[in-house]
Amino acid sequence: MIPLFEHYRRCAETLPHVSLGIFPTPIMKATHLGAAIGVDSLYIKRDDVSGKIYGGNKVRKLEFLLGQALGIGAREVITFGYAGSNHALATAIYARQVGLQSISVLLPQPNAHYVRHNLLLGHYFGAELHQYRTLMYGAVGSVYQLLRHKRRYGDFPYIIPPGGSSPMGIIGFVNAALELKEQVACGKLPEPDYIYAALGTMGTALGLTLGLKAAGLKTRVIGVRVVDAKFTRPKKMARLFYQTNSLLHAHDSSFPLYEFSDKDLEIRHGFMGSRYALFTEEGMRAAECMKTQEGISLEGTYTAKALSALIDDATKKALRDKVVLFWNTYNSRNLSYAIEEVDYHDLPRSFHHYFEEEVQSLDRK
Ligand SMILES: *Cc1c(COP(=O)(O)O)cnc(C)c1O
Repeated sequence: MIPLFEHYRRCAETLPHVSLGIFPTPIMKATHLGAAIGVDSLYIKRDDVSGKIYGGNKVRKLEFLLGQALGIGAREVITFGYAGSNHALATAIYARQVGLQSISVLLPQPNAHYVRHNLLLGHYFGAELHQYRTLMYGAVGSVYQLLRHKRRYGDFPYIIPPGGSSPMGIIGFVNAALELKEQVACGKLPEPDYIYAALGTMGTALGLTLGLKAAGLKTRVIGVRVVDAKFTRPKKMARLFYQTNSLLHAHDSSFPLYEFSDKDLEIRHGFMGSRYALFTEEGMRAAECMKTQEGISLEGTYTAKALSALIDDATKKALRDKVVLFWNTYNSRNLSYAIEEVDYHDLPRSFHHYFEEEVQSLDRK
């Protein structure tokens, strides 16, 4: 049974959940990377192997989201993201695994190899892919797709927001914090002072923040912002925190109601670079360091930038005697067998340019 359900038995009875991944994910001591950057006690939470086919942080959210979709008898799910969205891909893969169709409504982003791979994989795993040029077109296009599917199948698809960060999805990361508490209790790592994680749609960082309170851990979350600041406003953050907390409390009144203050979740603003999904020099150096020291591959949009913030703090000697946990939110399962199966010409035309134009300069090596 998942830790959340062990601690809160009413949640086990009433919350939707479908098991998709392999949990708990391992804790790994990053001795070499730690030595290289000057952090004696550096650990990695290996959410990159959270699933057998496809890992990463979205699996935890999808266990609740797809659980709910199945619970209400949906046959299709629709979700949203940028063209290379790991979330849209994870949704496609796991929706199909539980017998649901998936639709991805996507927006343009800077080109990279991983964008090409995720698009090919989305197609391989049966997602219906659409791309719209702007947020406005995307909004109108989404309504059109919803109506089209309603007309064709009689029901609206189950809606999963960008990044899976609805209160229901975020519960996946409340559970992750309780999972971490068990790993601390059985000696896999000392209680961390800090968790570093990329901050996108904020579900990961907010779920952990709420879960750490419930777990009674003193660990603080450092969210490294990798998206435009308009997506991570304090008001929205507080709202999502309280909505998730209320949802859990509504399902099990023994789940306490907590206060959320700005100090609970520290946000780092200096590491996104000029825009979302445009890689940074520091990020690429951080990823290179991870690869040579620990053999783990990061990507340039989220995890490389998150690690570059951790390394920056370490360089300022702020982490020398701290216990630091780097939450690896990226997938590390090899999917090249599937990528090789798809010809990009089989994708809708609007995606072909990703394969015909060069990738961004920092991704060319
Ligand atoms: C989606 C994603 C994130 C961001 O998580 P949020 O919960 O949206 O903040 C971080 N890393 C990777 C690799 C992701 O795909």
